Amino acid sequence: AKEEGDGCYRFFKPNLLPLIEEKMRLENGLYKALQENQFSLYYQPKINAATGELCGIEALIRWKHPDLGLVPPDKFIPLAEESGFILEIDRWVFREACRQNKVWQDAGLKQISVSVNISARHFYQGNLKEMILSELKATGLDPHYVSLEITEGVFMRNIDQVIDTILYLRNLGIQISIDDFGTGYSSLNQLQRLPISDVKLDRSFIQGITSDDKKSSIVRAIIELVHSMNMKVVAEGVETLDESRFCKELKCDELQGYLFSRPLPADELEVMLAQADPE
Ligand code: C2E
Ligand code: CA
Ligand code: CA
Ligand code: CA
Repeated sequence: AKEEGDGCYRFFKPNLLPLIEEKMRLENGLYKALQENQFSLYYQPKINAATGELCGIEALIRWKHPDLGLVPPDKFIPLAEESGFILEIDRWVFREACRQNKVWQDAGLKQISVSVNISARHFYQGNLKEMILSELKATGLDPHYVSLEITEGVFMRNIDQVIDTILYLRNLGIQISIDDFGTGYSSLNQLQRLPISDVKLDRSFIQGITSDDKKSSIVRAIIELVHSMNMKVVAEGVETLDESRFCKELKCDELQGYLFSRPLPADELEVMLAQADPE
């Protein structure tokens, strides 16, 4: 720190200040956002690769900030993880996703599973089991229609305790996916120990897969291995018809990406559900 003559210490170069100010503004705004209903959920369809049918949806949070407009999750989820407020956000998202899915089921629409992203922090700090149980009870949704997406970071610490928690959730009927697979630290070897239902292959593996022989042979090997452990493979971020064809050829089970649909607000997803064939 440097004394500037006016008695103030300057810790930061001036050009960093706007960034820090924005960060503080967002961080302070999170609590109010929850209180004042500024969050909403969008839903992105997952498609059964073999039949082309809608087979699930992923809930993705959006923040309508009164001054800043729509703030993307990449801007505030990391801040919420730093401050611990992510535990409140995860709970809100989980409750809202379950509530909405229950409303759709009760309206007689096609029954599908809703996936919710859960922060790694929830496995260490929060009481994940309690949160899930109480929100399932509050919304009345059958846990067989719920899936949790977690990242490889979850397995960095206390792996035995994490496995216990996952087994407990799976016994309730909840599915567990590993999100962004291939970008973190877990090895394929470790995967064998994990009571996981499916693996979501990160978009970086899918992008350009049709023109990259090295990439496609890696992806082929991952898919075979995951299948040999009786888990499903979901391809994330499928944008082109070529990528989709390729993923089908490699026997991916489910596909998700802009090619099929962007994340949609609840009312638009509902239209899609209404058009889908019932089971
Ligand atoms: P994610 O869980 O990997 O979600 C997938 C992201 O990829 C979403 O971005 C989705 O809109 C985007 N995406 C889907 N298909 C395509 C595609 O074909 N091409 C491209 N380029 N992108 C595609 P989004 O909604 O901006 O979310 C970003 C990240 O923020 C998520 O990555 C997740 O890590 C986090 N996030 C979003 N919602 C929540 C939430 O409710 N809770 C928590 N804890 N994290 C969330
Ligand atoms: Ca996800
Ligand atoms: Ca992902
Ligand atoms: Ca991601």
